[in-house]
Amino acid sequence: MFHVEHKYKINMTLEEVKAAIRNVPDFPIPGIQFKDITTALARHDCLCWMKDEIVNHYKDLGITQVVGIESRGFILAPAVAMEIGAGFVPIRKHNKLPAETVSYTYTKEYGYDTIQIHKDALNENDIVLIHDDILATGGSMEAAINLVKKLGVKKIYVNCIIELEGLNGRKYLQGKADDLYFLFGIEVDE
Ligand code: AMP
Repeated sequence: MFHVEHKYKINMTLEEVKAAIRNVPDFPIPGIQFKDITTALARHDCLCWMKDEIVNHYKDLGITQVVGIESRGFILAPAVAMEIGAGFVPIRKHNKLPAETVSYTYTKEYGYDTIQIHKDALNENDIVLIHDDILATGGSMEAAINLVKKLGVKKIYVNCIIELEGLNGRKYLQGKADDLYFLFGIEVDE
């Protein structure tokens, strides 16, 4: 089994990590409480704590590929992949990936969005962890799950750093992946 050696000491409580997430009211539009993770990422202790929490949860599950959702899913996904012995695969917005892709189009609050993945990035032998920074309604994660399913993988685990409570994202995703794990919840209006 894969063994993780810690080269640093992290003494953080969950409350300290939560407090390091900055709330920005009315961004990008009035009424939205934007949870800004950059303030937590900028702290070495928080950054390592978040990465380690994910690594410890997934290190013994035989995951072969960690799929990150553009763009904030790209921050921790490769770091986790390196430690759990997996590769990293990006899901990108339309027309960004250079080789042959498969696409999934889904409805958003206003209009549509298309996400893509390289066709040869995953196959039926892969055990996949899909990672993003924040789960809100679950719409983006559901689209990512449906996209990955098109490539016929063996198993799909789902992880976000933050679950926004009060939006029912977890309930919305129930049964759509093999396992859901969020590091902590924050009230959507907190
Ligand atoms: P959803 O598809 O509704 O689950 O939204 C998830 C995506 O939108 C994630 O990629 C988040 O980074 C982003 N997002 C949604 N709501 C917020 C919020 N209040 N603060 C920061 N990011 C958000």
